[in-house]
Amino acid sequence: MCRGCRAGSGVTEVGENPVILKRPHPSVHRLEYVVRIDLHTHSTASDGTDTPADLVRKAAAAGLDVIALTDHDTTRGHAEALSVLPAGLTLVPGAELSCRLDGVSMHMLAYLFDPEEPALLAERELVRDDRVPRAKSMIAKLNALGVPITWEQVARIAGEGSVGRPHIATALVELGVVPSVNDAFTQEWLADGGRAYVEKHETNPFDALRLIKNAGGVAVFAHPAATKRGRTVPESAIADLAEAGLDGIEVDHMDHDPDTRARLRGLARELGLLVTGSSDYHGSRKTCVLGEFMTDPEVYGEITRRATGAFPVPGTGGA
Ligand SMILES: [Zn+2]
Ligand SMILES: [Zn+2]
Repeated sequence: MCRGCRAGSGVTEVGENPVILKRPHPSVHRLEYVVRIDLHTHSTASDGTDTPADLVRKAAAAGLDVIALTDHDTTRGHAEALSVLPAGLTLVPGAELSCRLDGVSMHMLAYLFDPEEPALLAERELVRDDRVPRAKSMIAKLNALGVPITWEQVARIAGEGSVGRPHIATALVELGVVPSVNDAFTQEWLADGGRAYVEKHETNPFDALRLIKNAGGVAVFAHPAATKRGRTVPESAIADLAEAGLDGIEVDHMDHDPDTRARLRGLARELGLLVTGSSDYHGSRKTCVLGEFMTDPEVYGEITRRATGAFPVPGTGGA
């Protein structure tokens, strides 16, 4: 059974949303239609390895109909992605905001906000400006641990992207310190609270919610129970965020096992939150593939209905 299809349902009525195009599923249910929606991806504008242009081309090639570009604390990749957006693929402009609640790092996906809204823009810049000093502090800690990593090496790996832990982790792989990027995200190295970890400026999530809403956006708590990334916030905090206007939680994500997904789905039902699924694609830096997890078209339709700051953009170009 194809993961995106629900047998017999025909899946594609998505409310009044005009941007979803119907197209036949290529392989399995020839007479039915499916909409493939991936709402969380990264490009070289942050810590992905594909340029925004390559990312949207690969998304089209992967058979996706809708993709959100959600680089960390920046919308810088949107213009390039839009300039080559293939016909048949719709881009949802977004960002993944770095937040912290009671000492616990968490990520908030923001969709369809006004990218020029000054308060949210200023907060994104504040978080980004902290990235270089923070990376340098982590490099200093690694040097003190005997690892011969340099800022030049990490800056080369980051290229044009906003420098972050995945770039440092890639340097550790290059140096033979760890076998893979994932192995660098442990207490021994770069995980939250790890030996070489340095805190960064992160937004209080209740402030983030207010900023996103004021900019006309929709807020979804990214991978809320991804315990292997470090500590996670308690369910009571998710309830408080829901009370404060959180729209949804990302349930179907590679860092959630099936039991966790089931539990989060129940919590979302209880709290009246939308449930999303997405790949959190980072190109070759992580193992997930585009469309590995997807979002239900009805949920996507609801996200687009709630947003007032920006709109999904259907592609017109070829690439
Ligand atoms: Zn994240
Ligand atoms: Zn992400």
